Amino acid sequence: MKTEQLHTAALVYEDQLSRHVLSPNHPMRPVRLRHMHRLMQASGLLDSVDLLQADPRAATTDEILLNHHRDYVEAVRVIGSGGIVPNMFEFGIGPGDNPPSEGMYDAAALVAGSTLVATELVRSGTVPVAFSPAGGVHHHAMFDRASGFGVFNDASIAIRTLVNDGFRVAYVDIDCHHGDGVQASFYDTSQVLTISLHESGQWLFPGSGSVGEIGQGDGEGFSVNVPLAPYTQDELWLRVFDETVPPLVGAFDPDFLFIQLGIDTHFRDPLTHLQLTTQGFTEAVRRLLELGATCNGTVAVGGGGYDMGAVARAWTMALAEMASAGLPESVPTEYDAVPGLDYFEDRPGPAQLPEDVGHEVEQFAERSVEEVKATLFDRHGL
Ligand SMILES: [Zn+2]
Repeated sequence: MKTEQLHTAALVYEDQLSRHVLSPNHPMRPVRLRHMHRLMQASGLLDSVDLLQADPRAATTDEILLNHHRDYVEAVRVIGSGGIVPNMFEFGIGPGDNPPSEGMYDAAALVAGSTLVATELVRSGTVPVAFSPAGGVHHHAMFDRASGFGVFNDASIAIRTLVNDGFRVAYVDIDCHHGDGVQASFYDTSQVLTISLHESGQWLFPGSGSVGEIGQGDGEGFSVNVPLAPYTQDELWLRVFDETVPPLVGAFDPDFLFIQLGIDTHFRDPLTHLQLTTQGFTEAVRRLLELGATCNGTVAVGGGGYDMGAVARAWTMALAEMASAGLPESVPTEYDAVPGLDYFEDRPGPAQLPEDVGHEVEQFAERSVEEVKATLFDRHGL
């Protein structure tokens, strides 16, 4: 039974989540979360009594083990306390995306715990939607290894807690990269529908995420992938979203919706090639929240996003949507964590594409949508 909801949304955050530096010059700079939080504050969102602000906690070892192999968890623990693991490369840890670093266990456990707190708040009926912005960036982390900045897959861990109690969950991942780690966690079950819209693996890490990856065994038909070409912009992206996500989530009729809100789709993102704006992203969030309103609740996590201004604005805009709160049109002048921001929306957005490029990008998207429909819609009675 649901308790009376006194808040429209929850934000799970504390400054500690912005402190762990993976390595000097690493593109994933958790300080982006501090910049985001300051913008939420400057915009007045955090003064609203409708917003529940919750502290994260560290995930316990048992919780992390819900989605990860014991040897891997142990290796991260040893490395995180300054120890040496000679075979760390087998666990995906080494120079590059997932460098060994002191404190890495505690940092990843705190992120996983943040997403667990968000999940608990939604599951208990305390709020209809909860946002764990530090989460989601770990969506590449696998059962027995780190990958693509991901150590402990907070989304998979949190979804496991729901699935283990018999709930069915739809996971929609709008990060620019394929949500391969979460897909892998639930590849063989029909209890979780995973949908990932992303820049095609032809051009971007991790290389997977083709339409043909549809799940296996009981999970056949419950993994959905919609790859897109570089330079895909708002209007086309939203059209692809509308043609795939609402029908599939609607047909699946989940108990809970879980959304990964990576903003590395942004046209200024230094690592990727899609060309969304903060307003296109926010429109997607709005549509996802509408879908979530038809089930028991929505858990939202962050994700990729490597342009500091885009991250701060997009996730502030997302929280405003969740809390049904208004934002000023301009970024408040006293906000100086990221210099040079004028409006929340991108004005101007990316340049219009040359006609032939636009045509190719559109054809690529239409092919993906047609393939998804041909391969999966029948299985869901669509
Ligand atoms: Zn990403």
